[in-house]
Amino acid sequence: MNDIFATHESEVRSYSRTWPAVFDRASGSWLYGEDGTPYLDFFAGAGALNYGHNNPLLKRKVLDYMERDGVTHGLDQATSARREFLETFDEKVLQPRGLNYKVQFPGPTGTNSVESALKLVRKITGRESIISFTNAFHGMTLGSLSVTGNSMKRGGAGIPLVHATPMPYDNYFDGQYPDFLYFERLLEDSGSGLNEPAAVIVETLQGEGGINSSRPEWLRGLYELCQKHGMLLIVDDVQMGVGRTGPFFSFEEAGIQPDIVCMSKSIGGYGMPMAVTLIKPEHDVWDPGEHNGTFRGNNPAFVAASEAFRQYWSDDVLEKSTIAKGERVGAVLDELIAEFPAAGGVSKGRGLARGLGFEDTEVAGKISRACFDRRMIVETAGPSDEVVKIMPPLTLSDEELEQGLQILRDSVRAVLA
Ligand code: PMP
Repeated sequence: MNDIFATHESEVRSYSRTWPAVFDRASGSWLYGEDGTPYLDFFAGAGALNYGHNNPLLKRKVLDYMERDGVTHGLDQATSARREFLETFDEKVLQPRGLNYKVQFPGPTGTNSVESALKLVRKITGRESIISFTNAFHGMTLGSLSVTGNSMKRGGAGIPLVHATPMPYDNYFDGQYPDFLYFERLLEDSGSGLNEPAAVIVETLQGEGGINSSRPEWLRGLYELCQKHGMLLIVDDVQMGVGRTGPFFSFEEAGIQPDIVCMSKSIGGYGMPMAVTLIKPEHDVWDPGEHNGTFRGNNPAFVAASEAFRQYWSDDVLEKSTIAKGERVGAVLDELIAEFPAAGGVSKGRGLARGLGFEDTEVAGKISRACFDRRMIVETAGPSDEVVKIMPPLTLSDEELEQGLQILRDSVRAVLA
């Protein structure tokens, strides 16, 4: 591999850079190395490429927009592309789900959405503290790091900001304690300093934290607790939104309506930076310019996103196929776990956010590497990278799914046999 990456790029470059490949092209479920080697992509930009790489339907719209000199950078200006996004999002996504949110464009990426949400809930409630969960991941800026339950990710940033408190996520105690016992005690304990948190921020399925899926009834319990104690509920759907778990929003199955929803990654459709914060209208207490930034709303991404809503969210075809494909992945994971009982594997996740976890923290990394050697890109997740994370584009074909599952089988066997 070209050494310029080692000599000229910061040491902060991450995990995927240990792979001995420089990628050059990408199409659908495939990435291609400079030498033309195809790699099946079962990582999909950590959920940023739910519609695949260079999706031809979306590409056409982006190219047309570019060719007619559509506005690329418009700061916060009203543009026809922004209007189209707002209209299509409302028509194809919000209205059919009976949801009513105002849309904020908080900046280019997921962490900007989380920051905006954390600021906004403090302004709405006049309260300060935020409840987050064990193993949560919300982003790399200081506010979102403060609610991230992983000290390694905090890196040089040190301790969290004050007033952020982690609570046990669903099943943290393996069912040994009633779900919200500790949380409720702290809320009711006048000495805990936690009597009036502004909000709770939660991922319905923790991606980076190890593909930990919460149960719908746990989410409903959390929602009720929020209402009882005047706390707002922020769902961070940055990674699990836009159909990753099946429905457009990962909280739909639980039947809850969060006060604020953070989205990014696949919301722009084409892998371009874009984030939105969805705010219940009564909570939109921002004053003009109170949360701004140079890149608020990405016009080519608006164009791609609008087309994606029309193509994929006018019916439930993608949702159903994601659930079916996810069940197929789950079945293969179960088979592999049964084949190697001594490895103590655990099948995790739902929809097309799946994980194969191991107690031995070396195993998942080895499987990921074995997949790469067989030309498939698979990542690891969890506090000790102990989970093989399976997140292909939602648009992959059945043949590609089977091809990937066979590579996974071969890789697991190569490592565990
Ligand atoms: N929230 C969640 C749930 C995420 O998974 C991520 C990114 N992995 C973020 C926030 C941060 O998004 P970004 O990396 O785009 O800032």
